[in-house]
Amino acid sequence: MNVVECTSARELISAAVDDELPAAQMRLLDDHLEGCPLCRGYAERVSALTRTVRLRGVEPLPDLTAACSTGRVRRGWDAVVGCDPRWHGSRW
Ligand SMILES: [Zn+2]
Repeated sequence: MNVVECTSARELISAAVDDELPAAQMRLLDDHLEGCPLCRGYAERVSALTRTVRLRGVEPLPDLTAACSTGRVRRGWDAVVGCDPRWHGSRW
């Protein structure tokens, strides 16, 4: 495969990994990957990296239960809505 085809194929690979590649272009990409081991390897690496990033654990968030029960969160909310006239009258 030539460099131009491989460059285009790699753009299609990025779109395919994001599920943004129309079926017709997916067939073109599949045809290219069938004959190009370099792009096939690239596609495998990009897919693996994307899976890893998407499945990475979510960092734990602080438990705000106590803050809610003591009103600290509400005071913060009041500070936010107090600046915006659209929220006046929508207090809890
Ligand atoms: Zn290629």
